[in-house]
Amino acid sequence: MDGIPLLFKYTVPDKLYEKFWEGLKKGEIYASRCKKCGSLYFPPQRDCNKCMSSDMEWVKLKEEGELMTFSIVKQKPQGFESFPDYTVAIVRNLDGVNLMCWVKGEPKVGKKVKLTTDGQRLICEVIE
Ligand SMILES: [Zn+2]
Repeated sequence: MDGIPLLFKYTVPDKLYEKFWEGLKKGEIYASRCKKCGSLYFPPQRDCNKCMSSDMEWVKLKEEGELMTFSIVKQKPQGFESFPDYTVAIVRNLDGVNLMCWVKGEPKVGKKVKLTTDGQRLICEVIE
């Protein structure tokens, strides 16, 4: 039985996260770091949850990481129905940040990956 399609449209304050979106276009992934206590946030946050400071800075994340877990998406969410089956993974990069990304290559838990983007999405390429 089919349900009623729901369309969600999120509005992201572009100016606030411009550095993040511009980074994605160039293959770079940015997080935000609290200048006061050093906490690192990905996805980037405007304020620090730990010390309540709003004094944040941008940090380019390291490209190396390890594949922690993955899932092959066969039942796609709205907006992705036309995509062939794809694999998403959680990767822990060398900064200690967990990122969800689309997988290029044969995924296996524990494999080393290189983090990049396709201009819009985070991509992890399995390298060993
Ligand atoms: Zn802080």
